[in-house]
Amino acid sequence: MAAQAQSPVTVTSERELLILGAGLSGLLTAWRVLDVNPDVTVRVIEQSGRIAGDHTWSFNDSDITPELLAWLAPFIAHRWDRYDVRFPRRERTLNIGYCTGGSEGLRASVAPLIESGRLVLELGRTAAPEDFPGRAVLDARGYELRDDELPGWQKFVGRVIKTAEPHGVKHPVIMDATVEQVDGYRFFYLLPYSETEMLVEDTYFSDSSNLSENEIGARIDDYIRDKGWSDHRVLRSEKGVLPMMMATDRDERSAQIGLRGGFAVAATGFTVPHAVELADVVAQAVKRGGVVAAPGAVADFRRVHLRRERYARLLNRMFFRAASPEKRYIVLQRFYGLREGLIRRFYRNGLTLRDKARILIGKPPVPVNKAIANMSETAFIRRHRRTKGPHEHSS
Ligand SMILES: Cc1cc2nc3c(=O)[nH]c(=O)nc-3n(C[C@H](O)[C@H](O)[C@H](O)COP(=O)(O)OP(=O)(O)OC[C@H]3O[C@@H](n4cnc5c(N)ncnc54)[C@H](O)[C@@H]3O)c2cc1C
Repeated sequence: MAAQAQSPVTVTSERELLILGAGLSGLLTAWRVLDVNPDVTVRVIEQSGRIAGDHTWSFNDSDITPELLAWLAPFIAHRWDRYDVRFPRRERTLNIGYCTGGSEGLRASVAPLIESGRLVLELGRTAAPEDFPGRAVLDARGYELRDDELPGWQKFVGRVIKTAEPHGVKHPVIMDATVEQVDGYRFFYLLPYSETEMLVEDTYFSDSSNLSENEIGARIDDYIRDKGWSDHRVLRSEKGVLPMMMATDRDERSAQIGLRGGFAVAATGFTVPHAVELADVVAQAVKRGGVVAAPGAVADFRRVHLRRERYARLLNRMFFRAASPEKRYIVLQRFYGLREGLIRRFYRNGLTLRDKARILIGKPPVPVNKAIANMSETAFIRRHRRTKGPHEHSS
């Protein structure tokens, strides 16, 4: 694509928003700001040689408002109207739409804006917000481990395979937890892109961020063999280690977006839903107050986000600190027995008080004393700092 490196920033324009990082959140924000505001330009500085990386990004379609989902259409590569979950004692199909977009789709979505000159790229340049005093800068440089965020970890290794015969998987299996439970909660994640093409990912909700690719690769081989897909080619591979927030007391005022800004869904570690919502919040703020309004809009949205995610962080503390690693699957097995509407509301952060009670009430899948000990977020952070020190994380 025509993503050419350009000369370093010299202009200080009131109509130019500056974004550091051309990953998912940086590009979605640039795209939305430019679509909503025909009179502004966006400059994106990216350290690598190309934009959008090499990823696939998935989300429930009910996590995003219909208007923004329609806007996102050029990015979406695959869409399914249901998905399965599988546990030792429960199998279920949920009629919740599931979507996946990829790096190619994201590059194609912003290509017309680059060609028009309204989205200006500087590739191969490393930058930090303090390099641009007095400018409206959004920091989208991806995840960094911080002392004021305490996460558990979702880590995975995945392969897109091309099978010689149809693999027989009709729609996504977002959790196949019928596999041996090691290193926390373990499940396979399957995304069937076609009758013979599929993402097969071995995933762990773990206390540790260490990823042993060789060990996991061998387990993927075993799974593929057990399913009868041995006759296949590997088209591409991916791996990731994502934070699943248990507690945070981070400063709300920074203009960091995406994973840098702590905008991940605590329940999944995913960022697409918040990245899309925040892109629109920034775009509307720019429409009302110009590009200078963008950093403040991010800070305001973080305040809302931290409040909305509070309950999910509590569940993560129960999951990672109260449930024993080999029994964590029971928590999810129970959760996926609840009503579909509640599950939908859970993922889009729209739980009612009744829903929240419903999730916690009943025969507890975690020991009560450990549950009580991890209730308070403030006490959790205080305890962590006392026992681990400011820079030491549990991983
Ligand atoms: C393999 C993988 C699969 C994932 N799947 C999903 C999924 O299915 N659904 C979902 O919601 N989430 C998923 N995630 C999580 C999350 O959505 C992604 O990590 C997402 O890319 C985060 O977006 P971001 O914009 O915060 O950071 P990134 O997309 O990582 O972008 C950060 C960008 O900043 C650039 N950069 C860094 N430092 C500098 C600097 N100093 N100067 C200039 N540029 C810099 C980087 O090169 C990069 O391009 C996945 C993550 C991984 C790794």
